[in-house]
Amino acid sequence: MRLLNAKCSKLTANRLPLGIYISVPFCRTKCSFCNFASGVFSRALFDQYVQQLCSDIESSGAIARELGGLLDRRVDSIYLGGGTPSVLAPDQLKRIFETVRNTFDVERSAEITVECAPGTITGEILQSLADCGVNRVSLGVQSFIDKECSSVGRLHTRAVTLDDIARLRAAGIGNISIDLIAGLPHQIADTWQTSLSETLATGVPHVSVYMLEVDEDSRLGNELLAGGSRYHAHFVPNDDLTADLYLAACERLEKAGVQQYEISNFARPVTHGFGLRDSRHNLKYWTRQPYIGFGADAHSMLPATAELNARGIEAVRFATPDSLESYTSAGGRVQQLLASRSLIDREAALEECFFLGLRMNRGISFSALQKQFGNDVVETYAPIFAELVEAGLLEKPASGLRLTPRGRLLSNEVFARFLKTSSPRTTLA
Ligand code: SF4
Repeated sequence: MRLLNAKCSKLTANRLPLGIYISVPFCRTKCSFCNFASGVFSRALFDQYVQQLCSDIESSGAIARELGGLLDRRVDSIYLGGGTPSVLAPDQLKRIFETVRNTFDVERSAEITVECAPGTITGEILQSLADCGVNRVSLGVQSFIDKECSSVGRLHTRAVTLDDIARLRAAGIGNISIDLIAGLPHQIADTWQTSLSETLATGVPHVSVYMLEVDEDSRLGNELLAGGSRYHAHFVPNDDLTADLYLAACERLEKAGVQQYEISNFARPVTHGFGLRDSRHNLKYWTRQPYIGFGADAHSMLPATAELNARGIEAVRFATPDSLESYTSAGGRVQQLLASRSLIDREAALEECFFLGLRMNRGISFSALQKQFGNDVVETYAPIFAELVEAGLLEKPASGLRLTPRGRLLSNEVFARFLKTSSPRTTLA
């Protein structure tokens, strides 16, 4: 393909400082809809896990070299996700942040986010978040209707959520994001509107709205696929209603000035990033900026070393095992990561630009693509663009492409059209 012969693009161009993702796979209970590699584990394991995590952070320079990645020491975002990081003990949280700060140069203005489940933010945890420099909290609210929360195994209520938000603000952490799920058992249009009203009334600057995923990796998903009634499966809205709830959220949030900037993400205006109170960390994923992940089931993408670059490789992606047992098993971290490594050549990088760039409401810019991949890139993909525009899934703003509202609902189908040409290579050609 001619694209491969175009001059080598540089992932290094306009490269931002590194983002760090840290996975904490521990939860108080396992939500019935959850398909993440997280679970309820004995507290005795927490310390072993934190020790392993800190050891990996300290070894990150050597690990990156072995994987063929360039690791920037400058860090402008840290994201502790999971799982529920707020179930860790305060001293465990402090050890993680101390290790990060001792290993990397964390910028003073870095965005430092911790995911918390409402009801887990004790006074001690709140103090340690503030002591660790955490300036953003992502709250897994999912719904403001108590019955909907309890039906999926969440332990919090509306009152607990509102109290947590007030306490976070009183502690100086006003940059709060609320997660909501469309498609929970018992949810109907009215209760969904109530959750949206409550969310807007809090005035939080960021909201994420996800549609319930139905797959065999969660108990609820399994039950739905089997047509059963455990886990309130028979009270789950059908696909059409779930899609309507999602679209209603897009409309309602937008009208209230909480603008959609990505398929699942909405933010109030400020003056950074897209001019919105967006998630700096997540923007790194969608704009293909470097990040490194630590802990179980943590993914990384780093620019390739000059040696790999000379062989047509732009970036390396790798991930840790998703099982806690494999992650904490002694030794072999580099071998584990090498086994998962994908070498991203120019074609794979181009595909990523399509399916990551289209996630964002601003879409992809033809001139940016041409600058990076050569003038013929738009022509090469023109038939796919035309087909998706014809199907009403993509639209053409002035000089690029973006998903239509319907395209956002069917985004996986759209992205699949850009994965036909090749997939990321796992070995050197
Ligand atoms: S708290 Fe989050 S990570 Fe934990 S089980 Fe529930 S949805 Fe999954």
